Amino acid sequence: MSFESLGLCAELLSAIKSQGYTVPTPIQSEAIPVVFAGGDLLAGAQTGTGKTAAFALPIVQKLSENPPPNKRRRPRALVLVPTRELAAQVSEQMQNYGRRLSLRSTMIYGGVNIQAQIERLHRGIDIVVATPGRLLDHAARGTIKLKDVEFLVLDEADRMLDLGFIDEIKAVAEYLPAKRQTLLFSATYSNSIKQLADELLNQPKRVEVARRSITADEVSQVVYPVERNRKREMISHLIRNGQWTQVLVFARTRYSADKLTAELQFDGINTAAIHSNKSQSLRTRTLKQFKQGELRVLVATDVAARGLDIARLPHVVNYELPDVAEDYVHRIGRTGRAGEPGMSISLVCPAEQPKLQAIQKLLQATIPQESIAEFPKVAIKRGMVVKPRKKAISKPSPKKLAAKAKAAAPRTKKKSDKPKNVQKSTKSRTVAGRRAAANARQAAKTGRRG
Ligand code: AMP
Repeated sequence: MSFESLGLCAELLSAIKSQGYTVPTPIQSEAIPVVFAGGDLLAGAQTGTGKTAAFALPIVQKLSENPPPNKRRRPRALVLVPTRELAAQVSEQMQNYGRRLSLRSTMIYGGVNIQAQIERLHRGIDIVVATPGRLLDHAARGTIKLKDVEFLVLDEADRMLDLGFIDEIKAVAEYLPAKRQTLLFSATYSNSIKQLADELLNQPKRVEVARRSITADEVSQVVYPVERNRKREMISHLIRNGQWTQVLVFARTRYSADKLTAELQFDGINTAAIHSNKSQSLRTRTLKQFKQGELRVLVATDVAARGLDIARLPHVVNYELPDVAEDYVHRIGRTGRAGEPGMSISLVCPAEQPKLQAIQKLLQATIPQESIAEFPKVAIKRGMVVKPRKKAISKPSPKKLAAKAKAAAPRTKKKSDKPKNVQKSTKSRTVAGRRAAANARQAAKTGRRG
């Protein structure tokens, strides 16, 4: 099948060509005709399948073929997304296609000043890409009028439900006209997705494309069994020895993402983190830097990374396995995209064995395990004896670091300086410990004190 045979107009065909797409992906071949025909759509497709263009292209074309009913340019297409990052990505595609057909699009999300959004909406907009909470805020204030919406898209609907947006989605639907075309995209079909589809869709056509990350041959997966407290060392080793240029690393919590970022930075690896505790402007800036190749490592939590589209990402590392097996599939979908080869590496400690089992059950496959000479393989099967830990390679012991730091930088004695606490705070090669040692070395060199 070709893009021409899908009935796309010349402007969009040229946009597609300039993006380098040659043939439609399966979700595009299936969904575009449904949208053109005017029916509702319930699509099983995840990020990485080309689903954004699957709804953006026909919507933009249909909007341009039917000029707005009034001059005020109220939104006629609304795309609801779970995260700000996904909003940015969908909006970028909408803008790319839309401007060729003189359509205006904008994005609406929380965590940033509302005034600029109000002004943009006031100037007139055709397409809105929004997270549900902030959109509802605008709807309640009357700063957005949704009565002219002809297309509603629920993108990554399963994720929106995971994030607890169900009430907001239903409340947004109350503002929309009953006569509209609704498209729902979800990577999974849970009961709650079915219920939502029953409520919001009208006799939808169901299309499903292969779960990309599970079937994708271009993503090689490997597990490195390692002790929990050697993961940081191992990841640093992998990045440097493998001369990896760009890595997306998944951490389970915001705390762990920040901690790992600080430690990799300390190892001289250009790293930044994105998670929901970071301001939106910082997240956008960090993502841009990573996309432009200015950052070598991006550490992200699942929520922040959802929907990230970073072209030709060669490596994804699961620093910690996710709590939900499905998230593993989403994570590895960040690599090997659009036909490029990719590699997913999971650092798995013995305590994560049940999570690994759940992932393998979902994949219906066993992920091969490998080990690196410097990091003795540990048994990650429950009930097996874990091999004793070898001494860290070429790293001074935490005790030595603490002693060095203390000797080189004596301070006035405080309660918190008790030897017991110093020992504790430098345990396991923490950033604080290594930083103190580095300061100590520097102080010794320059002859400074304190
Ligand atoms: P999505 O699933 O919308 O996040 O898209 C995933 C990636 O596939 C993005 O990098 C798109 O630019 C790319 N893509 C979308 N459609 C095509 C296509 N027909 N051929 C090649 N790449 C595509």
